[in-house]
Amino acid sequence: MARHTGPVCRLCRREGMKLFLKGDRCFSDKCPIVKKQRNQPPGQHGLGRRKMSEYGVQMREKQKVRRFYGVLEAQFSRYMDKAQRSQGRTGDVMLALLERRLDNVVYRMGFALSRPEARQLVRHGHFTVNGQKVSIPSYLTRQGEEIEVRQRSRERAAIKEIVERGGARPTPEWVEVQRDQYKGRIVRLPERGDVDVPVEEHLIVELYSR
Ligand code: SF4
Repeated sequence: MARHTGPVCRLCRREGMKLFLKGDRCFSDKCPIVKKQRNQPPGQHGLGRRKMSEYGVQMREKQKVRRFYGVLEAQFSRYMDKAQRSQGRTGDVMLALLERRLDNVVYRMGFALSRPEARQLVRHGHFTVNGQKVSIPSYLTRQGEEIEVRQRSRERAAIKEIVERGGARPTPEWVEVQRDQYKGRIVRLPERGDVDVPVEEHLIVELYSR
């Protein structure tokens, strides 16, 4: 399954904001976004770019969300397609779909320190959904489903440490976590208000309506 494999801090610098792609480093003063001299768009002409067109602004907003959730272009188009065919506001539905991805849920539950790490842990088969092993990061979770770290994975020191440290982050209201039992449950489906990505989703909807 395809994913971005290049330098990730560059993505944050391009969007001019923290996308939290590196775990602990994102909260330290080593983050280039907090280091003033490095907080500029990447590339030789990073600071020399001209004012963006309307299309450019919409495109940046889309790229920001895509990178935040670690989703490639084609897959993002499929989310938009699904959202456009659903009832409800397209932008809200699109964000809710992204929130429900298994890798994001694992991150939200604090079983990984970043979304890229969550994705890798899911790919390596460390989680079950309702008792069944699921190794597809894009798996769309549903209300009532139970996400659990697999028994044999719990004995790994690295995973134990991640789960302990992941507990320092606040848990969103739509999931409940029993950290000592290495499991969590989707209490209800996420809504727009649960999504903490600073995004103007109407710009993305406009982009896809062109
Ligand atoms: Fe982004 Fe984290 Fe790198 Fe900071 S340290 S630029 S938040 S990936």
